[in-house]
Amino acid sequence: MLTLITNAEVHAPEPLGQRDVLIADGRIAAVAETIELSGSGLERLDAEGRWLLPGFVDALTHPCGGGGEGGFGNRTPELGTADFARAGVTCPVGALGTDSITRSLEVLYGSVMMLRAQGIDAHMYTGSYRVPPPTLTGDIARDITLVQPVIGVGEVAVSDHRSSQPGSDELRRLAADSRLGGVLSGKAGTVLVHVGDGDSRLAPLRDALDGSDLPNHSFFPTHVNRSRALLDEAAGFARQGAWVDITVSTTPELVAAGDIPALEALQYLLSTGAPAEHISLSSDAGGSLPLYRDGELKGLTAASPACLLELLRQTLAQEPSLTTEVLSALTANPAAALGLTGKGRIGAGVDADLLLLDPAGGELSAVMAAGRWLVGNGGPYGY
Ligand code: ZN
Repeated sequence: MLTLITNAEVHAPEPLGQRDVLIADGRIAAVAETIELSGSGLERLDAEGRWLLPGFVDALTHPCGGGGEGGFGNRTPELGTADFARAGVTCPVGALGTDSITRSLEVLYGSVMMLRAQGIDAHMYTGSYRVPPPTLTGDIARDITLVQPVIGVGEVAVSDHRSSQPGSDELRRLAADSRLGGVLSGKAGTVLVHVGDGDSRLAPLRDALDGSDLPNHSFFPTHVNRSRALLDEAAGFARQGAWVDITVSTTPELVAAGDIPALEALQYLLSTGAPAEHISLSSDAGGSLPLYRDGELKGLTAASPACLLELLRQTLAQEPSLTTEVLSALTANPAAALGLTGKGRIGAGVDADLLLLDPAGGELSAVMAAGRWLVGNGGPYGY
């Protein structure tokens, strides 16, 4: 099965100009100014006027649902393949989160495998908010080594009243076990860390790294746009070699309470000298967001993966000079943070996870994952 996309404006995520892209057996076979090819088994698509982007790599999602804080009535539902495909997320990474009691890693595994069976190359973290973490096989390193879609541990909570308040030794041990599993299986073994609104911010991670043999990028903190003070610490962490993750989903009320909107947070991190390639953007899809009416808390709603595409639209409309930084933070940077080689880029040999975007309206007209159309061109998840 061969597909030839011609005349696309390629953002790889860096802009390459107008290119032809040949896809064979689920991967990109060639990217060139002109590719001459014909034949009966060839699907041709003229993408004149459209942008071709790598599919989004979303470092934090809750495909089997999240929430449950405030009681059973506040649980959020499972996400389906269409939710991710229509949002351009071709590589979501699933996590449990706060609730590892009525939700389990087995349930998360089932959701991830469903997405995979339906064409989305999903991955997952073992563990949850809690330390010691729940596991599939009884051991973090064994989970990462033996279970194919498991690439690390997450989201482990620190500086949060819902966290199990892990000590430095516990965090160090967790990172070491995750790293061992990664080394044995050729994965990154990254520990994704939920950073809450507690005053200790990133101090638990710095304390765990101090005096250890662990590299600084062992911990990958998320929700770093909770406050200006946390962003300042995240900038320092990124300058020392770690990746840091901005949560895109938010609400006007959370912003009023101190959350910094994703685009502003990215601009701020860049202004402090944090390396652009060490900043990522994730949706926290399936996580719960407080819902207010007339200033009163009325319950919770669920974050959607669509917020990433919405952010890209906002960037194109309001801050077009930041387009490459935003695209990198949605694709190549999270892929690098999580050791997902073959993801988040357009180039020969990488997975054919591709988005076709109308740059004027910021709408996706087609989504391809592993060489198969999921949205547009006859794909099953059209709008
Ligand atoms: Zn979280």
